[in-house]
Amino acid sequence: MTNLDSLYQEVLLDHYRKPRNKGVLEGATAQADGRNPLCGDEVNVAVTMEGDRVAAVKFTGQGCSISQASASVMTQLVDGKSEAEIEALFERFHGLVTGTAPLAEGEAKQLGAMAAFAGVSKYPTRVKCATMSWHTLRKAMGHE
Ligand code: ZN
Repeated sequence: MTNLDSLYQEVLLDHYRKPRNKGVLEGATAQADGRNPLCGDEVNVAVTMEGDRVAAVKFTGQGCSISQASASVMTQLVDGKSEAEIEALFERFHGLVTGTAPLAEGEAKQLGAMAAFAGVSKYPTRVKCATMSWHTLRKAMGHE
C-alpha cells in the first residue's frame, strides 16, 4: 500500500465514522431513496433547492463504509452548487470510480475528498456502493 492509498483509506474511514450532513432535513423540497441490493446499502438523500441551486442537503442510511463515506463526501461537495455544477461533479466522480477517467497528475488537490474514491476502480463490485448516493441525489433532482 502506498502512502497515498493509506491517506485515502483514512479519509474514507473518517467520513464513515463521522458522517457529515447525516440526519433528517427539515423542510426538504425533494428527496429520493437509493438501494444497492448486491451489498445491502441503503440511502435517502433529501435536498432543499433554491432555484437550481442546492441550499441544503442531508442523507440517512446504512451500509458498507464506501457507500456511507461516499454519501457523506457527496453532500459536502454538492452543498451550494447548481444542478449543472453537480452534473459535472457526478461525471468526474463516475469516471474516477469506474476507472474510465483515472486521477490525473496534480488533480487530487483540486478534487479534495472525492479523490479518495479513486481506488474503488480496482474493485468493480464496489462501484455501485460508491455511486449509489450520487444516483439518489440525481433522482431527487429529477435527473434519473
Ligand atoms: Zn456497499
